[in-house]
Amino acid sequence: MSDPKVSTDVLVIGGGMAGLAGALALRENGADVTLVERAPEFGEVGAGLQMAPNASRVLKRWGLLEKALEVGVQPKHLVFRDAVTGEELTRQTLGGEFVERYGAPYVVIHRSDLHRVLLEACQDAGVRLVNDVMVESVETVNGRGVAHTAGGEVYEADVVVGADGLKSTLRSAVAQDGPVSSSYVAYRGTVPITAETPTADLEDVIVYLGPDCHLVQYPLRKGELLNTVAVFKSPSFERGEEQYGGVDELEAAYKDCVPAVQDALKNLATGVRWPMYDRNPIENWVAGRLVLMGDAAHPMLQYLAQGACQALEDAAVLQDVSRGTVFTDGGVDTGAWDRAIREFNARRAARTARVQRTARIWGESWHVSGLSRTLRNLLFKSRKDGDYQYNDWLYGVDQPGTPAKPSDTRTALLSA
Ligand SMILES: Cc1cc2nc3c(=O)[nH]c(=O)nc-3n(C[C@H](O)[C@H](O)[C@H](O)COP(=O)(O)OP(=O)(O)OC[C@H]3O[C@@H](n4cnc5c(N)ncnc54)[C@H](O)[C@@H]3O)c2cc1C
Repeated sequence: MSDPKVSTDVLVIGGGMAGLAGALALRENGADVTLVERAPEFGEVGAGLQMAPNASRVLKRWGLLEKALEVGVQPKHLVFRDAVTGEELTRQTLGGEFVERYGAPYVVIHRSDLHRVLLEACQDAGVRLVNDVMVESVETVNGRGVAHTAGGEVYEADVVVGADGLKSTLRSAVAQDGPVSSSYVAYRGTVPITAETPTADLEDVIVYLGPDCHLVQYPLRKGELLNTVAVFKSPSFERGEEQYGGVDELEAAYKDCVPAVQDALKNLATGVRWPMYDRNPIENWVAGRLVLMGDAAHPMLQYLAQGACQALEDAAVLQDVSRGTVFTDGGVDTGAWDRAIREFNARRAARTARVQRTARIWGESWHVSGLSRTLRNLLFKSRKDGDYQYNDWLYGVDQPGTPAKPSDTRTALLSA
C-alpha cells in the first residue's frame, strides 16, 4: 500500500448536510476529522428546506439554532388544502405549545443558508475540509479505513463515514441495490416576495394536495423570498420514456387545480427538473471501518420533509455513541470504533426505515383521486389542530431508536 496522503481519526466522504453534520459531531467529541468533497466548492441548490423540531433540536445542541433562526423563518402554521377546491383540510399551529412539546421550533430555511451554518461551524471547530476529491472505494486494512480517490490519492482513517448521498458509491460495500424511481418529478423555485405576491398563507407552510400532484409553498429569509415546490406524476415515465417530466407535463398535471396553485407555477425555475427517488431500507450500514449516514444510508421520498432532518439525527446519535471513547490507546486500537459504529447502526436503522416507509405511504395518500380523495379529506378534516398523536413518533424527544410499529399506515395517513 502506498503512503497515505492524509492519516486522520475520522474521514468523512461527502460535504452535503449529512457529511458536514457528521464531521461536526465527531469533531465536537475531540476527533481529528477530515472531510472530502468531490465538487470544487461546497454548496447547496437554491431551494428551501423544512426543518422539523427533531432536527432543530440537534442544531440547538450544537449552539447553532440561533444562527439558523437569523436567516430562517418560523412559520405560524402547517396547512393542508385540497388543490382542486382550495378547501382547508387540516392545520397544525407551529408556535407556543408545539415548540414547548418538542423542545425546539419548526424552521424553514434556504438550503444554502443551513449548509453555510454547518460549513462555518465545521471550519470554526477545525474540521479539515478538502474539495476536488472523488473517492472511488474504501477498504479496511489492519483495522483502519483506507479510501482510494480518482486522483490516485490514499486517505487513511480509524473510521470512514460515507455521506455521499442518494447515488452513493460507497453503499455498494453493504448493499447491491439502486435508487428506486417514484415516477414523480419536482420543479422548484424561489422568488422575491413583492407587493404583487398574493398575501394569503404567506406566513405558513402550505401544502395543496391534488390527484397525482401536490404543491408546497413557504416563506424563506425572514419572509423576503417565497419557496415553491411542485411535484407530479409523470405520464411519460409510466410509458417507459427516458426523458420524462417535461414542462408540458407540469402544466397538464395542475390543469384542474385552483387559481392559487396554477398561479404559483409561474414561480418555478423550469430549467431544472428533479426526478424523485428513494431506496428500500437496509439494515446494515457498516463494512469494516466504513459506516454510512444520511441519504447514502437511508434516502427517502420528501413527503415527510425529513431527509436532512434524519441526517442531523444521525449526526447526534453518532456523537452520542462515540462520546468519551478512547479510540486509540498509545497507538493501539481499542476496538471502540467498531462498537461505536455498530451501536450507531443499531440505534438508527429501524427508526430511519420507518421514516422511509412512512414517507412512501404518506405521499400515496396525498395523490389519491375519486372516492379515496373524498375519504382522505374526511379523515384530514376530522383531525383537530393541536392533536399531536400523529407527530410524536417523528418530532418527539429521544426518538432515534424507536422500532417500527404496525400502526405505521395509520400514522402515515395523519402525521402532519
Ligand atoms: C424536492 C426535495 C425536497 C426536500 N425537502 C426536504 C425538507 O424539507 N426537509 C428535509 O429534511 N429534507 C428534505 N429533502 C431531502 C434532503 O434534501 C436530503 O435528504 C439531504 O439533502 C441529503 O443530504 P446528504 O448529505 O445525505 O446527501 P447530498 O446532499 O446528496 O450530499 C452528498 C455529497 O457527497 C458528495 N459526493 C458524492 N459522491 C462522492 C464521492 N464519491 N466522493 C466525494 N464526494 C462525494 C456530493 O457531491 C454531495 O456534496 C428534500 C429532497 C428533495 C429532493
